[in-house]
Amino acid sequence: MILIFCAPSGSGKSTFVKHLLTTYDNFELSISATSRAPRGTERHGVEYYFLSAEEFKRLISEDKLVEYQEVYENHFYGTLRSEIERIQAAGHHVIFDVDVKGGLNLKRIFGEKALAIFVQPPSIEELRRRLTGRATDSPEMIEKRLRKASIEMEDAPKFDRIIVNDNLQTALSELDSLLQKQGMIEKSEQ
Ligand code: ADP
Ligand code: 5GP
Repeated sequence: MILIFCAPSGSGKSTFVKHLLTTYDNFELSISATSRAPRGTERHGVEYYFLSAEEFKRLISEDKLVEYQEVYENHFYGTLRSEIERIQAAGHHVIFDVDVKGGLNLKRIFGEKALAIFVQPPSIEELRRRLTGRATDSPEMIEKRLRKASIEMEDAPKFDRIIVNDNLQTALSELDSLLQKQGMIEKSEQ
């Protein structure tokens, strides 16, 4: 199966993904390629494959990407075909953490094989608090992300499922129940 997580930046996608990766052993995160610079402790091949804009454009021309988006100006993000092949060959469920447009594209590509989940923040104000608390972005970048968030929230109803990430434990239990129903995890694994 393919699990697609989308959400405005700061809603808690990475927290959800980390929960799945640390609790269960049959999920693997698809590492995207990006032309943005690494932040903080990020490393090539761990959080992303960090490429120059030129290298990224070459991959596009060689049809090496399943999908890609210019998420912010000159900041490309995309999924390598080789990444999905690698994870499926290992017999694992593929997790995608992508922007809303990319997620809806992936859902269109994979159809019934994919479960698309929108992680919704309780409010834009709470999102601002979390992004400020995370302390990985400049105040200008935070405002840019918040403007994008308001637009992205409008697409939430297009997803298979919306999980509101207000109380984290409640949200993660909701996620686990959903994945159990889908047969992606066993009850005893929790
Ligand atoms: P994303 O991957 O969607 O950008 P993160 O998972 O990095 O978001 O979460 C953004 C920040 O909010 C992090 O500092 C994280 O620890 C915090 N966070 C996540 N979920 C909650 C929650 N339910 N309540 C409060 N803070 C949260
Ligand atoms: P960040 O800069 O916070 O790491 O990511 C910015 C946005 O790009 C996030 O919404 C993230 O989900 C999205 N993103 C990451 N990888 C991909 C990808 O492969 N494709 C698309 N379309 N978006 C991605």
